[in-house]
Amino acid sequence: MPELPEVETIRRDLARLLPGRTLLNVSVADPAALTGHRTRPDPAAVADFIRRAEGGTVRELLRRGKYLIMEFTDGGAILFHLRMTGQLIVSQPDGSERLRLGFSGGRTLCFRDRRRLGEALFCRDWREHPRIAGLGAEPLNGGWGAEALGKILRGRTAPIHPVLLNQKLVSGIGNIYATEALHRAGILPDRPAGKIRRGEIAVLAGAVRDVLARSVRNRGTSMDTYVDALGRKGRSQLFTAVYGKAGGDCPACHAKIRKKILGGRGVSYCPGCQR
Ligand SMILES: [Zn+2]
Repeated sequence: MPELPEVETIRRDLARLLPGRTLLNVSVADPAALTGHRTRPDPAAVADFIRRAEGGTVRELLRRGKYLIMEFTDGGAILFHLRMTGQLIVSQPDGSERLRLGFSGGRTLCFRDRRRLGEALFCRDWREHPRIAGLGAEPLNGGWGAEALGKILRGRTAPIHPVLLNQKLVSGIGNIYATEALHRAGILPDRPAGKIRRGEIAVLAGAVRDVLARSVRNRGTSMDTYVDALGRKGRSQLFTAVYGKAGGDCPACHAKIRKKILGGRGVSYCPGCQR
């Protein structure tokens, strides 16, 4: 599932390819890509999306949490969320696209999504959009650190792992990077968030930033369907210590990596180096 490093990698690729280009045609093969699956198919919503998006010239590509924002020169924007299996690839269409964006200069951005949970939303003022305005701290921004994380965790009785995944508190982290950061910080994933000590919070804040930054350098984790905006796999999966490795040996202490269910997810941890 694309998390912060994967979305950031796609953003950087698209930022080299699309600014200055005009969106000439929008083709919607799967209307649920625009409205989600909870609502009934809505032909008016499709027509509205096309009318608002076509003709826009891309100003820049931005990211907030796991959202990729394609901002146009008139201030309008398309917000993309890739959810489980979404892909945004500049390539020749092959008929599997939910959404196809054709740009001046002949480039086509294909939104593919095997599980069809991803979304593309058009908005006039993306910073004020409820999905964006409600997002929590950005771990790669200047404001991140022990103090910011300490405020987020204070008084919380929930286990630390699902707290790190709560996008209203910390944005951009999913199971992969929460699992890796907790291992690196030596903290068990089921510890109550509010009981983590001050010194540990500082280590955890640094670990979160480090695992995300390292993955961005390695162009994301390709364990399932994630590829970058040119269809290439990332390399970060070569460096994961515990995620997806239950039953194997911890690279730090050689104890057997275990897995438990937390917040409905399987979470790997090392009983040797996490307390
Ligand atoms: Zn270990």
